Amino acid sequence: MDCIFCQIVAGSIPCTKIYEDEMVLAFLDIAPVSAGHTLVIPKEHCDEVHNCSEKYFEALTSVLPKIALAVSDAVSADGYNVLCNNGRAAGQLVEHLHFHIIPRMAGDGVFSHWPAGKYPPGKADEVAKKIRKSL
Ligand code: 5GP
Ligand code: ZN
Repeated sequence: MDCIFCQIVAGSIPCTKIYEDEMVLAFLDIAPVSAGHTLVIPKEHCDEVHNCSEKYFEALTSVLPKIALAVSDAVSADGYNVLCNNGRAAGQLVEHLHFHIIPRMAGDGVFSHWPAGKYPPGKADEVAKKIRKSL
């Protein structure tokens, strides 16, 4: 078993635990973007959102809101990001599905660059058609 997060689930690597039930574990990120930065993971290994079994995904998403609120309240945050990187190109380093909960303070400058673009005429419809087709 070479997955770090599976080893955390198994208890062979320590973590600062926030929440645990039969199917879900939440713990503090070892390299926090801000105080309280938490990772929420399914206890069953999968690498990305689309590979997670429905049962574990439902279990995770059903507890995520209360964990997010608790994290945010505990550090008196002004807001929080829920972030999930899928694939290397998207910044995923640990290949076990995880949701980051990152507490945010007004004006903290975290993620300050959002490279918003614009579709040329017709492009949005073209892309949407392709997406609907592959659903
Ligand atoms: P990713 O880039 O894959 O979305 O994020 C992986 C996250 O896992 C990073 O924020 C990193 O700090 C965190 N991380 C990596 N190894 C460990 C570990 O052994 N323990 C904990 N608590 N967090 C880890
Ligand atoms: Zn794993």
